[in-house]
Amino acid sequence: MSKEFVKEITAQSEDFSQWYLDVILKAGLVDYSPVKGCMVIKPYGYAIWEQIQNILGQMIKDTGHDNMYFPLFIPESLLQKEVEHVEGFAPEVAWVTQGGQNELGERLAIRPTSETIVCAMLADWIQSHRDLPVLLNQWANVVRWEKSTRPFLRTTEFLWQEGHTAHANYREAEDEALLMLDTYTDFVQRYLAIPVIKGQKSEKEKFAGALQTYSIEALMKDGKALQAGTSHNLGQHFAKVFNIQYSNAQGVLEYVWQTSWGVSTRLIGGLIMAHGDDRGLKLPPEIAPIQVIIVPILANNSKEVLQTANNLAQQLQQAGIRVQLDDRDQYRPGWKFNEWEMKGVPLRIEIGPKDLEKNQLVLVRRDTGNKTVAQLTTASSQVQELLIKIQTNIYRQAQEFVTSHTFIAKNITELKQILDNQTGYVQAMWCENQECELQVKEQTRATIRNIPFNQQPVSESCICCGKPTRTMVYFARAY
Ligand SMILES: [Zn+2]
Repeated sequence: MSKEFVKEITAQSEDFSQWYLDVILKAGLVDYSPVKGCMVIKPYGYAIWEQIQNILGQMIKDTGHDNMYFPLFIPESLLQKEVEHVEGFAPEVAWVTQGGQNELGERLAIRPTSETIVCAMLADWIQSHRDLPVLLNQWANVVRWEKSTRPFLRTTEFLWQEGHTAHANYREAEDEALLMLDTYTDFVQRYLAIPVIKGQKSEKEKFAGALQTYSIEALMKDGKALQAGTSHNLGQHFAKVFNIQYSNAQGVLEYVWQTSWGVSTRLIGGLIMAHGDDRGLKLPPEIAPIQVIIVPILANNSKEVLQTANNLAQQLQQAGIRVQLDDRDQYRPGWKFNEWEMKGVPLRIEIGPKDLEKNQLVLVRRDTGNKTVAQLTTASSQVQELLIKIQTNIYRQAQEFVTSHTFIAKNITELKQILDNQTGYVQAMWCENQECELQVKEQTRATIRNIPFNQQPVSESCICCGKPTRTMVYFARAY
């Protein structure tokens, strides 16, 4: 392996898409697999996913949901029950037709999502209003047969969590869908330091079989948008098809109202593309598997330096900081600096013989490159303060990027000009007619990301047909 590998990544400005692939490979997040369109998530990449699972998983539990697990296979007859749903997913479903030597009597779909199999069970489990609400979540893998793939963003098999709930009435289902959208917003902004736009998907872009789909959208550094999470109010569509009924307080049978919601390993792609730079990943401390890397500068009195570095690592660990000591002796400090920068570790501690004499250490921030000197005795409190500052700064940088990459268009010509010369979100008015949405997409390759809850009209007429409207949307080219 070349010791210079960390220098060999493409610049973002040169080719963003190649930069992305270079970074995920060289930071050790994933590797390509022998299966087309599928990735191997390596330990460092999986550690980020585990952080997401731990933090978001707790937030999902704290809002009253229990984890459980449904089968990977869905009988064809179940998947086909809800017409819109099956039409939406049919082109990308993988089928099992044989078990061992025997051809199966009924094909089994490998779940592209679990609504249908969850509904089949809910029909059994729910009888009375006392059984409601049902609040479930599962962490699982799903398969969607994709034509073109990209690690973390679009792979044939990916990991996610999917929530499934059932309620007594529309209001409760709607509140639930919005609560989970808020939970995602909170998680993505607070922990991943990615600012998002909350809103409703257009009819065309909503989930197959849903009444309404809500999304959070994030902006990547190449100016393309990424759908970071979705929450669906499924209404009673599935309940009617799967006959999920409960007797209300008056003993009358009613259909339940349902939601489903999910985020996936896409979030890791978002994390990379929202914050990364030409030196590699830049992880916010709240989500970073390693928050602090200690690199000892070893010379003649290396034993003492190592001893001190070890003590320091223990001290930081006891203070609840995720810290690692890089005491590998086959690499020079400069090489290690580059590697940990590539891996996006928020804070580096350098400690050498001269520091030892003065009882001090050097702290280097990944987000700014700034160096500060700290006293050994007060290291953990200084590190904690810095980690908070780094988290805030990374969010602020991302927010500034969104602000400086949000434009306004009053007609399609303006929209085209903006998209061809700059990149980012474009705020525009839309008459809510699907014809106009399709025309804009055809002419500009931009889609409606969502209809934001925070409505700020930018003109009085539809960007496409010119009809009067009060609905503002975000257009962008998207992943
Ligand atoms: Zn229109």
